[in-house]
Amino acid sequence: MAGGTLTVDLGAVAANYGTLQKAAPKAEVAAVVKANAYGTGMGPVARRLAAAGCRTFFVADAREGATLRKALAKALPEATIYVLNGLFPGAAAHYAAAGLRPVIASRAELAEWAEADAPLPAALHFDTGMNRLGMSEADAALLAQDRALTAGMDIPLIISHLACADEADHPQNLRQLGRFRAILERLRPAFPQAKASLANSGGIWLGPDYHFDMVRPGISLYGGNPFTGRENPFRPVVTARARVLAVREVEAGETAGYAATWTAKGRARIAVLAAGYADGYFRALSSGVRAGNEPESGGSVYIGGGFAPVAGRVSMDMAMVDISHLPDGAVKRGDMAELIGPHMSVDEVGLRAGTLGYEILTALGARYMRRYIENGKEIESESGGKA
Ligand SMILES: *Cc1c(COP(=O)(O)O)cnc(C)c1O
Repeated sequence: MAGGTLTVDLGAVAANYGTLQKAAPKAEVAAVVKANAYGTGMGPVARRLAAAGCRTFFVADAREGATLRKALAKALPEATIYVLNGLFPGAAAHYAAAGLRPVIASRAELAEWAEADAPLPAALHFDTGMNRLGMSEADAALLAQDRALTAGMDIPLIISHLACADEADHPQNLRQLGRFRAILERLRPAFPQAKASLANSGGIWLGPDYHFDMVRPGISLYGGNPFTGRENPFRPVVTARARVLAVREVEAGETAGYAATWTAKGRARIAVLAAGYADGYFRALSSGVRAGNEPESGGSVYIGGGFAPVAGRVSMDMAMVDISHLPDGAVKRGDMAELIGPHMSVDEVGLRAGTLGYEILTALGARYMRRYIENGKEIESESGGKA
């Protein structure tokens, strides 16, 4: 009944986890599963990662954390779950109830967590140049000096986050590494047990100096390329396919789609696909839209043994592709077109849409029928149970 299918290869997720563990052999490899595991499905992905040996997970907020705790209730009840966006005002009891650890990014959060009954463990987040979340170097100095601020608190982890890890030669990387080391040194006497974590996916490839005790990859687990201008060593995870609703002949000079932006140069054939911007097939993939610095314009799908460019505007529930160059009969009503997959990487789709793989993955719509496979066999159904 579904217009589109989304296949998530859990075997590839596990293989990517293994690749990361090889790249950072001395560090614990945690998994960032925020935003529904980058759109792929938090429950099945986290359970597969748990089976692959992952013990620590990062989510964005406590709601995601509670969902993850439930999803792992049987597979890994003792999973350590950190909440990257920190402690929300008045929410400490909810974190405690679900056994979540806030990644504390301000002294206000720290004070609130300290006031909570029997404070549970929490991580400390320091800013080293991203200027997003995190306490300052001055805060670190204060915490080192005034032990009363953290009296009785259990701090197992201290983190910072890299701004330019996708570019190995960017001077910001070394600058942030130096600042993080200085902060750790300052805090060592106050928190002798605390582990340290700096690297996201890209950061792991900056070398062992960046690994510390724990690494926090996200995008690489899901097959996205964490690097700019460098080959992707990770296995693709997501295949998105959309059904062909109709194949139609279009006379020369006729237009297709909203705003009549595409015109048939000669007699043409068009396939109408059941995927649109509501499914995360971005409107920026319409034909004639220049996507950033990408010389090609618009999206392209793999169908009937070849590539077919988007024709006209992508609409909410549908997109049209030009199949005039494919053999007659190569594409029929009911066929499936590959939007993302082995022939069209999530990074290539991102480039064509003027964005990056991260945004394409996290925008994957809720309308797809989701299948979780390993070695080509379905292993988990949509409802989360075993197939
Ligand atoms: C999202 C996030 C990560 C994961 O980053 P990737 O580039 O997807 O590997 C790691 N750490 C923090 C703080 C994050 O917000």
